[in-house]
Amino acid sequence: MNDPVFAATAPQVSDRRGRPLRDLRVSVTDRCNFRCVYCMPKEVFGKDYQFLDHKELLTFEEITRLASIFSRHGIEKIRLTGGEPLVRRNIEQLIAMLAAIPGLDLTLTTNGSLLAKKARALKAAGLQRVTVSLDSLDDAVFSKMNDVDFPVAKVLAGIEAAAAAGLTPVKINMVVKRGVNDDSILSMARHFRGTGHILRFIEYMDVGHTNGWRMDDVITARQIVEMIDAENPLEPADPNYRGEVASRWRYRDGSGEIGVIASVSQAFCRDCTRARLSTEGKLYTCLFATAGHDLKSLLRTGATDDAISDTIAAIWHRRDDRYSEIRTAQTVKLHKVEMSYIGG
Ligand code: SAM
Repeated sequence: MNDPVFAATAPQVSDRRGRPLRDLRVSVTDRCNFRCVYCMPKEVFGKDYQFLDHKELLTFEEITRLASIFSRHGIEKIRLTGGEPLVRRNIEQLIAMLAAIPGLDLTLTTNGSLLAKKARALKAAGLQRVTVSLDSLDDAVFSKMNDVDFPVAKVLAGIEAAAAAGLTPVKINMVVKRGVNDDSILSMARHFRGTGHILRFIEYMDVGHTNGWRMDDVITARQIVEMIDAENPLEPADPNYRGEVASRWRYRDGSGEIGVIASVSQAFCRDCTRARLSTEGKLYTCLFATAGHDLKSLLRTGATDDAISDTIAAIWHRRDDRYSEIRTAQTVKLHKVEMSYIGG
């Protein structure tokens, strides 16, 4: 195997719609200690659910080797996700290994439950920032979303620990589901305004095929912006970079910004530069994909870095996905891969 840190460069690849490969999301575990109703509903992910066997998971060495091969193709950012990435044992070790690859922005998305305990170690290992999911400040509403009675206060403590450790700016993701937590939009906006943390509202999506998604459950980004703007006037802000997932809105009084992720009402497939690596090493070129490409068997049958690099380039070259732009009542029923497995 080649030295992952000093791997060669390869030409930047573009897909059939001219989109370069820039970001890699890595699902480090398909397990989670929450059972969010919109992601891993208890009725499906119950006691008898068969999670992946440990030997099916990519090892830290395998993930690092792939990341370094991806970085040859111009990957600028890696986000660790899952499942809940902080339940993967010794995740700090993986972060330290990935942090040794030059020129990568290294981030992680978490439900925050273990963050108070781990924030300093994550930072010390080389993590740059975190995104924390939190769907309400009201314990009753939050419990209805996470479905394991997890208290809001512990997630807030995780957010503060992350900020204190320098994993900043901390971003907070709130998925909005009509009739469940839309009442929490304004209180969340008020709470995080002026803190330096960036609250982002995500339209509820039809990822996977187990969450029973209906268009009627979606509160659109526009509706969310209008609600907040009526209380604290907002103005649009420029994206930080091309292809940024969230549209940015700034409070006119200078007290910070929010983001809205309108993947249902204003699809952004045109600018999507993200590849996803599943927990067991399959490469997916769309969050809404029904099938992936097996890279683990290449890793485990002695393929060279060059051969794996060529395979990745060929897969990306053929990419034509634009699910959110062509979503219909029929596509919603497709047997799409679950978000906990592919990585959110
Ligand atoms: N366990 C981590 C967490 O809770 O952030 C990481 C994985 S989670 C799948 C990543 C993000 O996807 C979270 O912010 C979650 O709220 C979001 N998400 C999951 N299902 C979703 C859905 N159906 N629609 C919109 N966002 C969703």
